[in-house]
Amino acid sequence: MAARLLDGNAVGAAIRDELTPRVAAFRLRTGRPPGLGIILAGHDPASEIYVRNKLKSAGDSGILAELIRVPADGDVNDVLAMVVALNRRDDIDGVLVQSPLPAGMGDDAETRVVDTISPEKDVDGFTPVSVGRLVQNRPGLVACTPAGVIEMLDRAEIAISGARAVILGRSDIVGKPMALLLLHRHATVTICHSRTRDLPAVARTADILVAAIGRPAFVTPDFVKPGAVVVDVGINVVSDEALVRSWFPPDSPRLAAFARRGSLTVGDVHPAVAEVAGALTPVPGGVGPLTIAMLLANTVRAAEARAAR
Ligand code: NDP
Repeated sequence: MAARLLDGNAVGAAIRDELTPRVAAFRLRTGRPPGLGIILAGHDPASEIYVRNKLKSAGDSGILAELIRVPADGDVNDVLAMVVALNRRDDIDGVLVQSPLPAGMGDDAETRVVDTISPEKDVDGFTPVSVGRLVQNRPGLVACTPAGVIEMLDRAEIAISGARAVILGRSDIVGKPMALLLLHRHATVTICHSRTRDLPAVARTADILVAAIGRPAFVTPDFVKPGAVVVDVGINVVSDEALVRSWFPPDSPRLAAFARRGSLTVGDVHPAVAEVAGALTPVPGGVGPLTIAMLLANTVRAAEARAAR
């Protein structure tokens, strides 16, 4: 039986709709819209698309979004100076530096940037203060992708309390905060990574399986307990035709899409998992739209908190 598809576009639209009256109330109270400052260093093609989507979604939601560009050969100190300037601005409530930074900025550039963002404007939820608050289950700004996954599960009325959750991936931006959010909601959580032994067996214990590893179609049906909820966070652009053909049946519209574009965006979960899972987030159209919706929600939340001080 095919899994129930969890529609991230619909949930994302619902979250954005709920923000509209809050943005209007904020404007009325303060005389200005919530403000989001985005710093983009260099011209990474994926980052250009992500930032364009963030700017458009913010604008559509009545948030003032400002893009600040730093040249690809710029210094990390240029980025830090922009962050400090945005931290100081009264009309800016959220500060976001698009990742990855150009390699030439140095290995510690991302850490230095995150350490400079004012925690009250940390709409990505990446600063040590935000992460510490999350660890202690205190109110704060939480990383957008895992926060979006929780919204998706809640709105689909999927029970988290008491469930066994397995997270594939332990990154600071997805795996770890995802595990903490599920733990705080009383799931029994296991975090897996590249050194985990017998990954399929561990994954098969999950009632809720979250795949966030960045490997196309890696999670095959043998990873999945029948009826489990499978959340596919992965975003992988694949241009190897033989590989794509090995995943989809010959009449699949995904193959037609590949033929048109020469590449295909797929998740970490193999399409055949739909025959085993009870519910599944598609890629595209699953977790991706929630990440942006939660960024907007965090910006409005940061704006409201600053205005209430
Ligand atoms: P990272 O590369 O930072 O982390 C990947 C994690 O997966 C690591 O913990 C790594 O283990 C683990 N891993 C890699 N290969 C294997 C393997 N063969 N077996 C088990 N574990 C493995 O990735 P991110 O967390 O940043 O992103 C993960 C995916 O999610 C990517 O595809 C990314 O594009 C996508 N993403 C999607 C978002 C959305 O909005 N939908 C937002 C953010 C990310 P180890 O630590 O041992 O190296």
